[in-house]
Amino acid sequence: MSQEPHNLLRRIPQVDALLKTAQGQALTSQYSQQLVAQTLREILEEVRKRIRSGQTCVPAHAELLSACEERVSKSLQTQKPVVINATGILLHTNLGRAPLATQAAQAALDAATRYSTLEFDLDTGRRGDRQAHVETLISQLLGAQAALVVNNNAAAVLLMLAAVARGREVVVSRGELVEIGGSFRVPEVMAQSGCILREVGTTNKTKPGDYRAAIGESTAALMKVHTSNYKVVGFTQAVDIPELAEIAREAGLPLLADLGSGALLPLNVYGLQDEPSPREILAQGAQVVCFSGDKLLGGPQAGILAGNTDLIAVMRRHPLMRALRPDKMTLAALEATLQLYRDADLARRHIPLYRMLGTDQQTLRLRALALMEALKDISGLKCEVAESQARLGGGSAPGEALASVALCLKSRLVSSNSLADRLRHGSPAVIAHIRQDAVVLDLRTVFPDQLPELTGALKAVLSSLEVQDA
Ligand SMILES: *Cc1c(COP(=O)(O)O)cnc(C)c1O
Repeated sequence: MSQEPHNLLRRIPQVDALLKTAQGQALTSQYSQQLVAQTLREILEEVRKRIRSGQTCVPAHAELLSACEERVSKSLQTQKPVVINATGILLHTNLGRAPLATQAAQAALDAATRYSTLEFDLDTGRRGDRQAHVETLISQLLGAQAALVVNNNAAAVLLMLAAVARGREVVVSRGELVEIGGSFRVPEVMAQSGCILREVGTTNKTKPGDYRAAIGESTAALMKVHTSNYKVVGFTQAVDIPELAEIAREAGLPLLADLGSGALLPLNVYGLQDEPSPREILAQGAQVVCFSGDKLLGGPQAGILAGNTDLIAVMRRHPLMRALRPDKMTLAALEATLQLYRDADLARRHIPLYRMLGTDQQTLRLRALALMEALKDISGLKCEVAESQARLGGGSAPGEALASVALCLKSRLVSSNSLADRLRHGSPAVIAHIRQDAVVLDLRTVFPDQLPELTGALKAVLSSLEVQDA
């Protein structure tokens, strides 16, 4: 039944009429009058346009309201940020670095959704110290006199330098003028903190005499920066912490150490080289160490400073502190993470990073085989389980590989680039690498409870290829 457009246009319902229907009423009470009315106006305007360009019917009320419901509910959804990391990079900087332990996530949730004692002293009923709990924990774990937490390790380095050495010189080896991804560069942070960088030695060799010769009237500190994301190999020399501490002591200067990752657990048990331990570096004579909360600590994004009481006190009182302080959720998550480190076994069992590091090859192989089995009926797919190499990532342990197991996929219907692209757009998104023209899913970084979801996402993407091919 075709009608003249102007007749049809007249039959488009009013927004108010739609709102008064039972379905309309239900929508406004579930969402909001304003949102629903606005969305209906948009939908009706689209109908008007379609009719003017030739559509010959007006959708029924129920149809319009259902369209409205779908649109409103979609507009209120935030994009679910969860992805499956099948890259084998454990601290993937672009996928959120360290996943939190359940305890830490719960602590952050509690702090976020309820009132908290963060700045309240239950004993006195008055204002308390925001960081008191977490500082005590850090001091105990590191054997430090005092500690302080800021937003990230970049902030920690900035604050440490500004508080200890503003307007004066800080001596650093030319082999340690690090750049970390995201524009953290030692010389630039130094400049921002108001210190003068005094470079010593060469790219490959710095000797004790180089530091000694650079110390003068205007020197405020010596700094050691852990070259966390690169290695200088071959004809090299660096001055280690005990010797640097000795040089600093002779000159009456503090030794500061930016450790980057600062692992609290040994890594050699996983076949990796150990990272500097903050506890050891302090024991060897550094006055202050700083490191990240979300690298090898496996906690939330934070910067941890620990060491000499007087120096930490200067940082705590520094005007920058207020700008760099972490929020309550971070402090709660960090405290819960640190609690786990009171017993190394507890940390290894509950912190996702260490669980992933500690999963044996056989377990990974069984998971890969189960995945392969689930995909066996998909046509046009070449699938095999292979040895793989995972990595720590996140600017830690440069170049070191970690034995792992992967599922390698090749489709006869699309290129591996296209398959990887489809997996990234799947639900949930799966992030994989391409190696030797195959899509490689490394299982070390896939949480065991994500395996059913991974299976589902793979099946959905791979069977959609079959349909297209049919
Ligand atoms: C990672 C790193 C930083 C920066 O730490 P963020 O927590 O990412 O701000 C600074 N210094 C070194 C040596 C690092 O490895």
